[in-house]
Amino acid sequence: MAKIRVLVAKPGLDGHDRGALVISQVLRDHGMEVIYTGLRQSPVQIAQAAIQEDVDVIGLSSLSGAHKTLFPKVIEELKKRNAEDIPVVGGGVIPSEDIPYLLEQGVNKIFTSGSSTEALADYISELVGGQQEPAEPPKKIAHIGIAVHHIEAALPFYTDALSLELEGVEEVESEGVKVAFLKIGESRLELLEPLDAASPLQRFLDKKGEGIHHIALEVDHLKTRLKKLHTAGFELINSEPKQGAHDSQIAFIHPKAANGVLIELSQYGGSEE
Ligand code: ZN
Repeated sequence: MAKIRVLVAKPGLDGHDRGALVISQVLRDHGMEVIYTGLRQSPVQIAQAAIQEDVDVIGLSSLSGAHKTLFPKVIEELKKRNAEDIPVVGGGVIPSEDIPYLLEQGVNKIFTSGSSTEALADYISELVGGQQEPAEPPKKIAHIGIAVHHIEAALPFYTDALSLELEGVEEVESEGVKVAFLKIGESRLELLEPLDAASPLQRFLDKKGEGIHHIALEVDHLKTRLKKLHTAGFELINSEPKQGAHDSQIAFIHPKAANGVLIELSQYGGSEE
């Protein structure tokens, strides 16, 4: 397969290109051909260079705070030259509140200063390489897990006071828990009770008491996702999917990855990777 060609450019007036040079090197290490335009390029120059160099993707880096005008201008100049099929990815010092605007303006993705360079390289090879689909976001909140001492005692609030429908109660031996699922719209509340004193959930209850225990996100391609999370340096509790309730495959991500929240990924149905 031909090498992916990336134009790395710094529009605007700021005079630091260490970040752009680091990114360029990381992309080269991933087998890509990188053309770096150097400092202080205008949107017109960037669009022209991208077309002349026949690149597959443009990476824009901005530290100057002018990304809100400069990034959309690059896209506009590409459009003027019928080259809007060249995707644009942005990074640098970009406040999160500016990201929705930039996406709306046609930037494919913004990587903030906290993003890993590996994530950026992976994204570009998926976007351009066509070997895999770019990772889809999780489909929905599958359920919110709530740790309780006794399901029987907890249920009346949910089923009587809130009128939620109790959908099922089952034991998940592998986790040492009994769970009750309460249907709420497209999602569920999952009450979790420890099966015995050795259950990890009992330790949670001893330490923190009853309360929210985890949030489960429904995903496809669980196995691939776990591999990518691991590569990106996020700590996993389960590096391989295991059997969950409701005929699902599940895996937990360490709370360190998600600001202290235990995240469960769950996959239902057939897809194998
Ligand atoms: Zn769960």
